[in-house]
Amino acid sequence: MQNQLLLLEKVQKIDIQIGIIEEEEKQYNTDIETLSEGIREHEAKLAALKTELDELENARRAVEDEIALYAERIKKNDDRLKNIKNDKEFNAVTKELHTAKKGRQAKESEISKLNEIVDEKKRLLKEEEDKLQNDKNKFEENNASLIINKERWGKNLKEKTEEKAAIAKDISPSLLKRYETIKQKRQGIAIVSVEGDACQGCYMNIPPQIYIQLQKGPSNLIFCPHCHRILYWLAKAPNSQQDR
Ligand SMILES: [Zn+2]
Repeated sequence: MQNQLLLLEKVQKIDIQIGIIEEEEKQYNTDIETLSEGIREHEAKLAALKTELDELENARRAVEDEIALYAERIKKNDDRLKNIKNDKEFNAVTKELHTAKKGRQAKESEISKLNEIVDEKKRLLKEEEDKLQNDKNKFEENNASLIINKERWGKNLKEKTEEKAAIAKDISPSLLKRYETIKQKRQGIAIVSVEGDACQGCYMNIPPQIYIQLQKGPSNLIFCPHCHRILYWLAKAPNSQQDR
């Protein structure tokens, strides 16, 4: 049993390394997904801003047309002023001039307000364009290194899987199955050593009779009474070998 447990512990070490590779790959994919979400968001914002800007430009053109009409009216009345025949006509023309100039002034202040809004929208547009470009660059970079890393992950995973299979073939299938079940429930750690009376999985003390049983070399599986992981006892050589 002791030998089986030591083999199982080696399998677990490889599984942990496999887990790290898989986690790294997952993180990469998550990052890329986040970036492409960002790109989609910026593109949507840009499209909305462009529509708003188009509408503002149309509104501005309409006001400019109105200003042109006022200018025409002003010019016409200025000309009429040169050939005035009587007071009545003079009063009518000056009144008309006054109205037209007031109208033009109002439209001009409308234009300057519109210009301010347009400038602000253009600033936002530029900002979104920069953010979009930034995300696109990062996306490209990540994608490029993903391609390189994929090859490395694939190679490492293949090696680790082969290494694991070579050890696992000497472990009884029922023990392996047990290991897999506990591993899933216990954050990837199913088999732990006991050191100084404590389970190295949950660091709780284990009862002395379990400790004695472990040291004798058990014929059955012994579980931690607290975290229910498989326990094994690591006899330490004088120049104690820590985990490699
Ligand atoms: Zn425990």
